[in-house]
Amino acid sequence: MSFTLAIVGRPNVGKSTLFNRLVGKRLALVDDQPGVTRDLREGQGRLGDLRFIVVDSAGLELVDDDSLQGRMRRLTERAVDEADVCLFVIDARVGVTAADEYFAEILRKRSKHVILAANKAEGRAGEAGAMEAWSLGLGEPLRISAEHGEGMDDLYRILVPLAEEFEAQNIQQAPETDVAVSDDDESNAEDWRPSIHKPLQVAVIGRPNAGKSTLINKIIGEDRLLTGPEAGITRDSISVTTEFMGTPVRIFDTAGMRKKARVTDKVEKLSVADGLRAVRFAEVVVVLLDVGIPFEQQDLRIADFAETEGRAVVVAANKWDLEEEKPQKLNELREAFERLLPQLKGAPLVTVSARTGKGLDRLHNAILKAHEVWNRRVPTARLNQWLGAMTEAHPPPAPGGRRIRLRYMTQVKTRPPAFVVMATHTDKIPDSYQRYLINGLRVDFDMPGTPIRLTFRDQG
Ligand code: GDP
Ligand code: GDP
Repeated sequence: MSFTLAIVGRPNVGKSTLFNRLVGKRLALVDDQPGVTRDLREGQGRLGDLRFIVVDSAGLELVDDDSLQGRMRRLTERAVDEADVCLFVIDARVGVTAADEYFAEILRKRSKHVILAANKAEGRAGEAGAMEAWSLGLGEPLRISAEHGEGMDDLYRILVPLAEEFEAQNIQQAPETDVAVSDDDESNAEDWRPSIHKPLQVAVIGRPNAGKSTLINKIIGEDRLLTGPEAGITRDSISVTTEFMGTPVRIFDTAGMRKKARVTDKVEKLSVADGLRAVRFAEVVVVLLDVGIPFEQQDLRIADFAETEGRAVVVAANKWDLEEEKPQKLNELREAFERLLPQLKGAPLVTVSARTGKGLDRLHNAILKAHEVWNRRVPTARLNQWLGAMTEAHPPPAPGGRRIRLRYMTQVKTRPPAFVVMATHTDKIPDSYQRYLINGLRVDFDMPGTPIRLTFRDQG
């Protein structure tokens, strides 16, 4: 499966850095590549299990100023024409510039598939710039950090369905379709985003011996496992695609699915690290606890990581068959969950027995629900009605007599849901007020089991 990805954007946004990250050491020397011109670098790109050709249009800085715009245009147009997908990069720290708008215009007209990436978005520095990128009319900006390797999992997730599409085209040997130039700016950007009809990506993580492989094998069923785990996303992780009660799921696991016979301390540490890596590629993370020793330090760390990474989380207490005092134990678990993992407030807690298969239906339903909430979009009108009611019930403080005004609110992304509130004096808004709003959103819009992001944007 192969396709060509062009990295385009104005100088200095981080194209080369991204190119190097995708290509790694597999950079093909420009001169060795027939058909590759001086200005466009080309290499073998790799992201998880995807293989593709990357074209970098950097090098624009080298040309003299008066011809810059013309050359920029020609070069970009060529990259676009040679590529199946364009990765359009802007600098999230700088925000949208006139040059970015110029590029966006070319891409909207000329490219079938554009992925908009706001680079240098590590930490919180790029938040405002990434928001601004919505204005380019190319759909949802992907936040990445080429330098730190952040956001590569999201990029992967966007590329997978595209890669499948290109592969299907190749198999059918369909005649080359003309470049479909659409004047309808935003429609293209949405078509190819991952949809829920794709297998739902689930990672099962937990301490060694929690029962991960027993659970996964139960879900897969013996027959399917015989077809063998596929080498996965990273060297150390494995994924299988299967059906879980009629829902196509791709399950990421690491050490769990491999043959056992390895219980040294070293391997145990490794398997947890692998598990953490699998989280990045998952949509829903199942944190599997051994009900005999629940919520130990390692479990907490894993669950916290899943939340920080913005994944939908389901907590499953395994080996429930061994439990004799079930109602009492369940209460204990609920209490411990609330106390030890307040950041996952509202996430579903289900009991299962991987050995007997009891409770798998509950787990299935919890995964679907968490995934649905994670993808949910709340209409802007409803949000603003809600914001009005919330600020009325409990107005924000007036530090030094100056009122903080929360003017307007919108949901800027899903997976997980993220909201921006336009406000005045944002630096003065206390964390407790932010928590008040987040908890309110969770309750009023019924969004359990998903991290909710809420940021304030200063409107003077
Ligand atoms: P190009 O001209 O678009 O190819 O940009 P480069 O890849 O040469 O990057 C321009 C500058 O931005 C360099 O100093 C990079 O180190 C820096 N840069 C690239 N990616 C990132 C990132 O993700 N975060 C930060 N903070 N800096 C980055
Ligand atoms: P992993 O290291 O997380 O993959 O754990 P395994 O799946 O290898 O399970 C560890 C041990 O717990 C094995 O001896 C399993 O048979 C046992 N086990 C797993 N799930 C259950 C369960 O639901 N009930 C009981 N009683 N034992 C289980």
